[in-house]
Amino acid sequence: MGGIIFENVRIFDGSQMRAGTGAVRVEGNRIAEVSDGAGIAHHDADRVIDGQGGTLMPGLVEAHAHLSWPSSVERFVPGMALPPEDLVLTTARNARILLDHGFTSAYSAGSLSKSVEVVLNTFITSGGMPGPRLVASSIEREPPSVEELDPGRVAEHGSGPDAVRAFVKECAAIGAKSVKFLLSGEDALMPGASQKLMYTQEEADAAGEQARESGVWLACHAQASDAVKMGLRAGFRVLYHCTYADEEALDMLEAKRGEIFIAPAIGIIQATLDAAPPPHFDMSHMKRSAAEVLELQKKLVPELRRRGLRVLPGGDYGFPFNPNGRNARDLELFVKLFGYTPQEALSAATLLGGELMGMGDELGQVKQGFLADLLLVDGDPTADVAILQDRKRLRAIMKDGRFHKDPALAAL
Ligand SMILES: [Zn+2]
Repeated sequence: MGGIIFENVRIFDGSQMRAGTGAVRVEGNRIAEVSDGAGIAHHDADRVIDGQGGTLMPGLVEAHAHLSWPSSVERFVPGMALPPEDLVLTTARNARILLDHGFTSAYSAGSLSKSVEVVLNTFITSGGMPGPRLVASSIEREPPSVEELDPGRVAEHGSGPDAVRAFVKECAAIGAKSVKFLLSGEDALMPGASQKLMYTQEEADAAGEQARESGVWLACHAQASDAVKMGLRAGFRVLYHCTYADEEALDMLEAKRGEIFIAPAIGIIQATLDAAPPPHFDMSHMKRSAAEVLELQKKLVPELRRRGLRVLPGGDYGFPFNPNGRNARDLELFVKLFGYTPQEALSAATLLGGELMGMGDELGQVKQGFLADLLLVDGDPTADVAILQDRKRLRAIMKDGRFHKDPALAAL
């Protein structure tokens, strides 16, 4: 069987744009050869694609995905609740939408249904449904005493270490790979809540112990500095936001930099500031909170990077004013707000993304032996990372060696 050869491409390999033009050969679902300059010998059965000087790069990784959050670039939903059948189909469609926009992997930050992501993932990996590689999650957990704090709230959650342990166990049994906890509240949903701890250290520790026993990863919504510290002590792998991290929290983060990942979720913050809601919908409190978070994160993220932490794009897309499908905007925000070069933002979304997915030795780079998750981009995203937001500029999208978007068809 022949391979697929991309010729006449500039290659962003996950770390840097390589000099000159080159060629990449894909065989099966892997990258078989990467060549700078001269090109790659063809066999008769090969399919050769002329990249026309465009950029071949690894597929993007969304670090804070909410596939079941209803709104997307294809459908505006003015709220979070959907009837179950609608929720399932919407989630499946959002998976396809992420892939359409160049995201070949997604790390879930929580779902609105216990098992929809796990079921969807089975359909995606069995080949029948388009969507990114998925680290699936179950419902975001918050304590039973809190009302209306998060759309993923479910009534049967109890409190105390045993209830927390049971929840992690249940998520693992369903087949979720990541379990998400709201360790702090959220100002955007309830004024003052970001500083409020939702769990005790004993409960967080119980989650950590059970997660290690069950072989699942933990992720947390952590705004308050103490929530960051709580998550770190308990062995959480992914920490979202971290907005109010103080010096001690930064030191603790740094000490674990080889084990953890951070996604500030700046997309939702910028979208909140940009939103122009209808008059009956008061977003003034959310906007005040977002303005504060923005200023703090502009200081925080460069400091996290200085300390060698792995910070990834991933911006809480799926809300009505921040729809699924707009995910690549986070890369531009990393450049505009956090001082990244376009190349550094791309590397965070690809090379670090592979590590986030737990597949750093085979995903997120254009490198011999790596999985063939590739984008062929019309233009140079290391000069202007914003071009990735225009799906028409994505001439080809390949996942696992197969075209989701075939460049021959894309040209029609
Ligand atoms: Zn989120």
